[in-house]
Amino acid sequence: KIKQYFRPTKAIIDLQAIKQNVINLKKHLQPNVQIIAVVKANAYGHGDLAVADAALKAGATMLAVATPDEALHIRAHFSEPDILVLGSSPVSFAPYAAQQRITLTVFSSEWVNEADEYVTNEENFLRLHIKVDSGMGRLGVRTEEELLNLYHGIHAAKNFQLDGIFTHFATADDEDNEYFESQAQFFERFVSLLPEKPRLVHASNTASSLIKDERLQFDAVRYGISMYGLSPSPYVKGLLPFALSPAFSLESELVHVKQLKAGESVGYGATFVAPTDMWVGTIPIGYADGVIRKLGGQEVLIDGQRMPLIGRICMDQCMVALPKTYAIGERVTLLGRQEQAEISVDEWANKLQTINYEVPCIITARVPRIYI
Ligand code: PLP
Repeated sequence: KIKQYFRPTKAIIDLQAIKQNVINLKKHLQPNVQIIAVVKANAYGHGDLAVADAALKAGATMLAVATPDEALHIRAHFSEPDILVLGSSPVSFAPYAAQQRITLTVFSSEWVNEADEYVTNEENFLRLHIKVDSGMGRLGVRTEEELLNLYHGIHAAKNFQLDGIFTHFATADDEDNEYFESQAQFFERFVSLLPEKPRLVHASNTASSLIKDERLQFDAVRYGISMYGLSPSPYVKGLLPFALSPAFSLESELVHVKQLKAGESVGYGATFVAPTDMWVGTIPIGYADGVIRKLGGQEVLIDGQRMPLIGRICMDQCMVALPKTYAIGERVTLLGRQEQAEISVDEWANKLQTINYEVPCIITARVPRIYI
């Protein structure tokens, strides 16, 4: 059943763009390298279920999320695909993971010993991927001893199956290769220490798989940001082997248009004062939607042209300076294209002094995701 929304504010998610990105990314991989579609954080704000479906249809063979709850949400709608939880899971989740065929990340033999007590149903193996901390300093085994203890602990446990081993690069999107190579070599050494190689060795995120050595694609790559049509960094953008198609647009409409007299003001604090008589529109989107107050002054697209937000952004609304009057219902694009004009996720990221990853993630759940 399609839910009806009455407020005209929405995020438009272009699933064709996501599919095309996955298809193009796949062409770039070595033969037989699998794609793990990273759909954590509600698919970077794009909507986990729809993106998972699009990615799987376009050739991804596995999904990755950050938390147990994200995995359960996806499993409730997709019974088939492998789902890997990239982050830590409490021991208490182990039996649910086994029962729901959710693969967990492990990095401590204590966890394995404790979880072994919890997983009692021999029909449902708990599948595990070992995480190696090769230099990210976040999660993972850091010494050979930890690695081998963990490996043997998993093999000694009654109902566990070692399905993979992976690491994560801290500097894959940088020009400098030194730190990246040291991580790669650390990981390769750890993999070589295993008495038996598990099914999936994986290390590369978008940046690593697109611009670094192909040997690091191993058995699978984990694609996140590129699937959404964004580049991991300005440096990688200059080296992309093909164009990525952004999938996220943010749209609304003018709900009110009025003429201000010179000297009249707009918004909390009355910070914007009309320098001359001018037209002002009201857009029903505000900081509770993720259009945070730091975006004050950001331009939006109306009628194919850029127009600036004026005054302070309110919780649910913001105001825009118009060059003339427009009808109520006139389309407003906060992110995305109108004719030749575009306001990109990267433009917001620059304005907010952050990375493009953060931008779709901060658009809150109040904004419905509409799929095209
Ligand atoms: N793998 C892990 C462990 C991650 O945390 C992430 C995202 O942050 C990814 C893969 C995907 O990276 P990217 O979005 O740069 O492709």
